[in-house]
Amino acid sequence: MTLLVHDVTLTYPDGDGRLTALDAVTLDAPAGTLTAVMGPSGSGKSSLLAVAATLVTPDAGRVVVAGRDTARLSAAEKSALRREEIGIVFQQPNLLASLTAAEQLQVMAHLSGRPAARLRRRALELLDAVGLADKAGKRPHQLSGGQRQRVNIARALMNEPSVLLVDEPTSALDHERGAAVLDLLVNLTRERSTATVLVTHDHAHLDRMDRTATMADGRLTQSPEPAAAR
Ligand code: ADP
Ligand code: MG
Repeated sequence: MTLLVHDVTLTYPDGDGRLTALDAVTLDAPAGTLTAVMGPSGSGKSSLLAVAATLVTPDAGRVVVAGRDTARLSAAEKSALRREEIGIVFQQPNLLASLTAAEQLQVMAHLSGRPAARLRRRALELLDAVGLADKAGKRPHQLSGGQRQRVNIARALMNEPSVLLVDEPTSALDHERGAAVLDLLVNLTRERSTATVLVTHDHAHLDRMDRTATMADGRLTQSPEPAAAR
């Protein structure tokens, strides 16, 4: 299992007490599959992604990423694991205004200390994979919302993550562009064999997902594992 969130409980401080955002949640995501997480606002979807991303430590339960139990890791080991194995795509692209599309990707990977020429090549390959081969030199204000979200997705893939976590990537896009971004995520999941977990409100594409999980009040119900996980 590439990603396993097992029996996780997460609470936040809330006045004198605690608010339970995740209540004994279990989610597993095999490589090469896409799991959609649905559910109303406030039900805990983003909290689930934050825990899976190892950005937030749960009160109880286990998070296993690429075979590593994250509870056993030091903070430094956890951030290395996050950098190497986890790609995160937030709702808003968060691109740096002064950088070109290619540079947005390269800056991500600079930290890893790989040679600049190789990073550049990889950035251009990924921009090609998300359909932006001709936009590598454009800055965010020269791109449409859908194109910015594609740069955001390409950036998350820069370090070849085995887990891809995506929070409502189409909420700022119209229906057609949203559909194209979801198509892209399905294709990337297959091609790159990522364990992809996608928070979405869009019911229209559920037939393209391998599994659907629904959150309600911090509890999650996951559909059975598909017979043939690709
Ligand atoms: P969703 O993504 O489904 O809208 P969230 O995971 O953002 O849900 O939130 C789940 C619950 O936890 C909500 O009641 C929200 O108000 C609360 N919550 C989320 N983040 C925090 C935080 N950092 N501190 C306190 N409460 C939070
Ligand atoms: Mg959310």
